[in-house]
Amino acid sequence: MAKEPIPTPVTRLYVEGDFTAGLSVLLDAERAHYLRSVLRLKPGEAISLFNGSAGEWCGEITSLAKSAAAVTLTKRNRAPAAEPDLWLCFAPVKRARIDFIAEKAAELGVSRLVPVMTRYTQMSRVNTDRLAANAMEAAEQCERLTVPEVAEPVAFDRLLADWDSERQLILGDETGAGPPIAEALSALSADRLAVLVGPEGGFAPDELDALHGKAFVTPVSLGPRVLRADTAALAALACVQAWSGDWRHGRPDFRAGLKRG
Ligand code: SAM
Repeated sequence: MAKEPIPTPVTRLYVEGDFTAGLSVLLDAERAHYLRSVLRLKPGEAISLFNGSAGEWCGEITSLAKSAAAVTLTKRNRAPAAEPDLWLCFAPVKRARIDFIAEKAAELGVSRLVPVMTRYTQMSRVNTDRLAANAMEAAEQCERLTVPEVAEPVAFDRLLADWDSERQLILGDETGAGPPIAEALSALSADRLAVLVGPEGGFAPDELDALHGKAFVTPVSLGPRVLRADTAALAALACVQAWSGDWRHGRPDFRAGLKRG
């Protein structure tokens, strides 16, 4: 039996700016290349442009050259909507895994990615541009309306010294010194949250002492096994979203009318 073709959702691109019906939005050579040579789209085809303040707009590709492309907006398909204020602070790990963290954190609704240089962090440099590109691509794919911000790497001591105590920091403590994450989250009422996970070598003892001494830190256990840093980051984010975040609400089916023919 012939396989039913999988309906291809309309391409979504994150583009900053104010949108109005009839506006022609110019896209740069990189975006034009992506539409033309990667997705093999043609003028006349539908596309969506979105950003956090304009919401998501339907549009039509009106020109598609090597050096640039133009999209004429037709109507707003989704109004801007509040998205989680959830940070992921993480000790940078090796390339493939850190790209994975950026992509998955974007899908999990993180608003800001903060690379933290801890004592045992192996990486000395972080390519934040590459992380931002991974996060943006994931945001376009997962149908969110914003793209996570990627902060410049910060030293562990500086992170703590500058921390806004109104934001509760959920610490993945691999030593088991914290309660199970579900128990800790059920006792938490803060709506500005962050998750912090350490590097391959874990946190140094004095780092854990410094963290446990802060009222804005909630240490948690992520179960009896030692998780890799990327696994721990995503597991903690999933728990936070399920328990305190936007996984408590359904998923609006706002794409019904937007399948490419
Ligand atoms: N020292 C161990 C190691 O080298 O494998 C643990 C480090 S672990 C790979 C990296 C980070 O993931 C830890 O610093 C912690 O933030 C988090 N993590 C891993 N397993 C965890 C657990 N069972 N409970 C809480 N956090 C955990």
